[in-house]
Amino acid sequence: MAHERILVVEDEQEIRELLRYNLAKEGYVVHCAASGEAAVRQARRDHPELVVLDLMLPGMDGLEVCRTLKGDPATRAIAIVILTAKGDEPDVVSGLELGADDYVPKPFSPRVLIARIRAVLRRAGSDPPHGEAAVAVDGLVVHPGRHEVLVAGRPVHLTPTEFRLLHVLASRPGWVFTRYQLADAVHEGDSLVTDRSIDVQMVGLRKKLGAMGRRIETVRGVGYRFREG
Ligand code: CA
Repeated sequence: MAHERILVVEDEQEIRELLRYNLAKEGYVVHCAASGEAAVRQARRDHPELVVLDLMLPGMDGLEVCRTLKGDPATRAIAIVILTAKGDEPDVVSGLELGADDYVPKPFSPRVLIARIRAVLRRAGSDPPHGEAAVAVDGLVVHPGRHEVLVAGRPVHLTPTEFRLLHVLASRPGWVFTRYQLADAVHEGDSLVTDRSIDVQMVGLRKKLGAMGRRIETVRGVGYRFREG
Protein backbone atom coordinates (compact mmCIF):
# COMPACT_ATOMS: atom_id res chain seq x y z
CA MET A 1 0.00 0.00 0.00
CA ALA A 2 1.11 3.52 -0.74
CA HIS A 3 1.53 5.90 2.15
CA GLU A 4 2.42 9.07 0.34
CA ARG A 5 0.53 12.18 1.33
CA ILE A 6 -1.63 13.82 -1.29
CA LEU A 7 -3.26 17.22 -1.04
CA VAL A 8 -6.43 17.52 -3.13
CA VAL A 9 -7.29 21.08 -4.13
CA GLU A 10 -10.78 21.38 -5.55
CA ASP A 11 -13.61 23.78 -4.73
CA GLU A 12 -16.39 21.44 -5.87
CA GLN A 13 -17.24 19.31 -2.90
CA GLU A 14 -18.51 16.33 -4.87
CA ILE A 15 -15.31 15.98 -6.87
CA ARG A 16 -13.21 16.61 -3.78
CA GLU A 17 -14.95 13.76 -1.95
CA LEU A 18 -14.71 11.47 -4.96
CA LEU A 19 -10.97 12.07 -5.04
CA ARG A 20 -10.59 11.67 -1.30
CA TYR A 21 -12.45 8.37 -1.38
CA ASN A 22 -10.55 6.89 -4.32
CA LEU A 23 -7.11 8.00 -3.21
CA ALA A 24 -7.66 6.85 0.37
CA LYS A 25 -8.75 3.47 -0.96
CA GLU A 26 -5.35 3.22 -2.66
CA GLY A 27 -3.62 3.79 0.66
CA TYR A 28 -2.67 7.44 0.19
CA VAL A 29 -2.97 9.80 3.10
CA VAL A 30 -5.35 12.43 1.76
CA HIS A 31 -5.83 16.03 2.81
CA CYS A 32 -8.15 18.42 1.06
CA ALA A 33 -8.31 22.14 0.44
CA ALA A 34 -11.23 24.02 -1.10
CA SER A 35 -9.34 27.16 -2.11
CA GLY A 36 -5.97 28.15 -3.52
CA GLU A 37 -5.06 30.12 -0.43
CA ALA A 38 -5.78 27.14 1.82
CA ALA A 39 -3.82 24.88 -0.54
CA VAL A 40 -0.65 26.98 -0.31
CA ARG A 41 -0.99 27.23 3.45
CA GLN A 42 -1.45 23.46 3.85
CA ALA A 43 1.31 22.58 1.40
CA ARG A 44 3.77 24.77 3.33
CA ARG A 45 2.68 23.23 6.60
CA ASP A 46 2.28 19.54 5.67
CA HIS A 47 4.72 19.04 2.76
CA PRO A 48 2.67 16.45 0.89
CA GLU A 49 4.45 14.39 -1.78
CA LEU A 50 1.90 15.43 -4.39
CA VAL A 51 -0.84 17.98 -4.99
CA VAL A 52 -3.85 17.26 -7.21
CA LEU A 53 -4.73 20.75 -8.30
CA ASP A 54 -7.91 21.93 -9.98
CA LEU A 55 -7.19 24.94 -12.19
CA MET A 56 -10.58 26.63 -11.79
CA LEU A 57 -10.73 27.87 -8.24
CA PRO A 58 -12.38 30.99 -6.83
CA GLY A 59 -9.87 33.59 -5.65
CA MET A 60 -6.32 32.37 -6.11
CA ASP A 61 -6.60 30.04 -9.11
CA GLY A 62 -4.75 26.81 -9.81
CA LEU A 63 -2.05 28.40 -11.96
CA GLU A 64 -1.28 30.89 -9.22
CA VAL A 65 -1.05 28.06 -6.70
CA CYS A 66 1.30 26.21 -9.06
CA ARG A 67 3.45 29.32 -9.55
CA THR A 68 3.61 29.92 -5.80
CA LEU A 69 4.53 26.34 -4.86
CA LYS A 70 7.09 25.91 -7.65
CA GLY A 71 8.57 29.35 -6.92
CA ASP A 72 9.26 28.58 -3.28
CA PRO A 73 12.32 26.41 -2.54
CA ALA A 74 10.48 24.94 0.45
CA THR A 75 7.64 23.55 -1.67
CA ARG A 76 9.26 23.25 -5.10
CA ALA A 77 9.81 19.50 -4.81
CA ILE A 78 6.12 18.77 -4.28
CA ALA A 79 4.78 17.07 -7.40
CA ILE A 80 1.71 18.65 -8.99
CA VAL A 81 -0.91 17.01 -11.17
CA ILE A 82 -3.38 19.54 -12.55
CA LEU A 83 -7.03 18.87 -13.31
CA THR A 84 -8.27 20.67 -16.37
CA ALA A 85 -11.64 21.33 -17.92
CA LYS A 86 -12.44 21.64 -21.61
CA GLY A 87 -11.13 24.95 -22.90
CA ASP A 88 -8.25 25.07 -20.42
CA GLU A 89 -5.60 24.08 -23.00
CA PRO A 90 -3.59 27.32 -22.82
CA ASP A 91 -3.60 26.99 -19.03
CA VAL A 92 -2.35 23.41 -19.28
CA VAL A 93 0.69 24.65 -21.17
CA SER A 94 1.24 27.45 -18.63
CA GLY A 95 0.89 24.94 -15.82
CA LEU A 96 3.49 22.64 -17.31
CA GLU A 97 5.78 25.58 -17.97
CA LEU A 98 5.39 26.54 -14.32
CA GLY A 99 6.56 23.09 -13.31
CA ALA A 100 3.43 20.97 -12.97
CA ASP A 101 4.33 17.32 -13.54
CA ASP A 102 1.28 16.14 -15.41
CA TYR A 103 -2.35 16.92 -16.10
CA VAL A 104 -5.60 15.01 -16.33
CA PRO A 105 -8.63 16.35 -18.19
CA LYS A 106 -12.07 16.45 -16.57
CA PRO A 107 -14.24 14.49 -16.46
CA PHE A 108 -11.60 12.00 -15.35
CA SER A 109 -11.82 8.36 -14.45
CA PRO A 110 -10.39 7.80 -10.97
CA ARG A 111 -8.40 4.85 -12.34
CA VAL A 112 -6.68 7.01 -14.94
CA LEU A 113 -5.93 9.72 -12.40
CA ILE A 114 -4.48 7.19 -9.96
CA ALA A 115 -2.30 5.69 -12.69
CA ARG A 116 -0.94 9.17 -13.50
CA ILE A 117 -0.35 9.94 -9.82
CA ARG A 118 1.55 6.68 -9.41
CA ALA A 119 3.71 7.45 -12.43
CA VAL A 120 4.48 10.96 -11.20
CA LEU A 121 5.34 9.76 -7.71
CA ARG A 122 7.54 7.04 -9.15
CA ARG A 123 9.43 9.58 -11.24
CA ALA A 124 9.67 12.00 -8.32
CA GLY A 125 10.89 9.26 -5.98
CA SER A 126 13.91 8.47 -8.08
CA ASP A 127 15.91 10.95 -10.09
CA PRO A 128 14.37 10.92 -13.54
CA PRO A 129 16.45 8.76 -15.86
CA HIS A 130 18.64 10.84 -18.12
CA GLY A 131 16.67 12.39 -20.93
CA GLU A 132 13.28 11.56 -19.45
CA ALA A 133 12.34 14.95 -18.02
CA ALA A 134 9.46 16.79 -19.64
CA VAL A 135 10.34 19.98 -21.48
CA ALA A 136 8.10 23.03 -21.68
CA VAL A 137 9.35 26.07 -23.56
CA ASP A 138 7.37 28.93 -25.14
CA GLY A 139 4.19 26.96 -25.77
CA LEU A 140 5.96 23.75 -26.76
CA VAL A 141 5.60 20.78 -24.44
CA VAL A 142 7.56 17.56 -24.97
CA HIS A 143 6.54 14.88 -22.50
CA PRO A 144 8.63 11.69 -22.84
CA GLY A 145 6.71 9.80 -20.17
CA ARG A 146 3.55 10.17 -22.23
CA HIS A 147 5.30 10.32 -25.57
CA GLU A 148 3.34 13.48 -26.22
CA VAL A 149 4.10 16.76 -27.96
CA LEU A 150 1.85 19.78 -27.63
CA VAL A 151 2.19 23.03 -29.55
CA ALA A 152 0.00 25.73 -27.99
CA GLY A 153 -1.98 22.96 -26.33
CA ARG A 154 -2.59 20.96 -29.50
CA PRO A 155 -1.12 17.47 -29.87
CA VAL A 156 1.39 16.92 -32.69
CA HIS A 157 2.01 13.36 -33.84
CA LEU A 158 5.66 12.54 -34.39
CA THR A 159 7.55 9.39 -35.24
CA PRO A 160 9.73 8.01 -32.41
CA THR A 161 12.87 9.38 -34.08
CA GLU A 162 11.36 12.83 -34.66
CA PHE A 163 10.20 12.81 -31.06
CA ARG A 164 13.66 12.07 -29.70
CA LEU A 165 15.27 14.68 -31.92
CA LEU A 166 12.86 17.34 -30.73
CA HIS A 167 13.32 16.32 -27.12
CA VAL A 168 17.10 16.56 -27.35
CA LEU A 169 17.00 19.96 -29.07
CA ALA A 170 14.27 21.53 -26.92
CA SER A 171 15.89 20.31 -23.70
CA ARG A 172 18.71 22.79 -24.28
CA PRO A 173 17.43 25.80 -26.20
CA GLY A 174 20.22 27.72 -27.94
CA TRP A 175 22.61 24.77 -27.69
CA VAL A 176 24.01 23.56 -31.00
CA PHE A 177 24.06 19.79 -31.58
CA THR A 178 26.13 18.21 -34.32
CA ARG A 179 24.50 15.68 -36.63
CA TYR A 180 26.74 13.09 -35.06
CA GLN A 181 25.52 13.95 -31.55
CA LEU A 182 21.91 13.88 -32.70
CA ALA A 183 22.35 10.56 -34.49
CA ASP A 184 23.95 9.19 -31.35
CA ALA A 185 21.11 10.49 -29.17
CA VAL A 186 18.33 9.01 -31.27
CA HIS A 187 19.86 5.72 -32.35
CA GLU A 188 18.09 2.70 -31.01
CA GLY A 189 19.44 -0.80 -30.87
CA ASP A 190 21.29 -1.68 -34.02
CA SER A 191 19.39 0.62 -36.34
CA LEU A 192 21.75 2.99 -38.06
CA VAL A 193 20.96 6.71 -38.09
CA THR A 194 23.22 8.51 -40.53
CA ASP A 195 24.02 12.23 -40.73
CA ARG A 196 22.00 12.41 -43.92
CA SER A 197 18.96 10.77 -42.38
CA ILE A 198 19.08 13.37 -39.57
CA ASP A 199 18.60 16.06 -42.24
CA VAL A 200 15.66 14.15 -43.66
CA GLN A 201 14.10 13.72 -40.22
CA MET A 202 14.47 17.45 -39.55
CA VAL A 203 12.51 18.31 -42.69
CA GLY A 204 9.62 16.14 -41.50
CA LEU A 205 9.84 17.39 -37.95
CA ARG A 206 9.77 21.07 -38.93
CA LYS A 207 6.81 20.52 -41.21
CA LYS A 208 4.79 18.79 -38.50
CA LEU A 209 5.55 21.50 -35.96
CA GLY A 210 4.22 24.28 -38.20
CA ALA A 211 5.29 27.75 -37.05
CA MET A 212 7.08 26.20 -34.06
CA GLY A 213 9.23 24.30 -36.58
CA ARG A 214 10.99 27.53 -37.52
CA ARG A 215 12.55 27.48 -34.07
CA ILE A 216 14.67 24.55 -35.23
CA GLU A 217 17.57 26.21 -37.00
CA THR A 218 20.26 24.75 -39.19
CA VAL A 219 23.68 25.91 -38.08
CA ARG A 220 25.70 25.71 -41.28
CA GLY A 221 28.59 23.33 -41.10
CA VAL A 222 27.75 22.29 -37.55
CA GLY A 223 24.27 20.92 -36.98
CA TYR A 224 21.02 22.08 -35.42
CA ARG A 225 19.70 24.06 -32.53
CA PHE A 226 16.36 24.97 -31.00
CA ARG A 227 16.36 28.76 -31.07
CA GLU A 228 15.68 30.53 -27.80
CA GLY A 229 12.51 32.67 -27.69
CA1 CA B 1 -13.18 23.98 -9.74
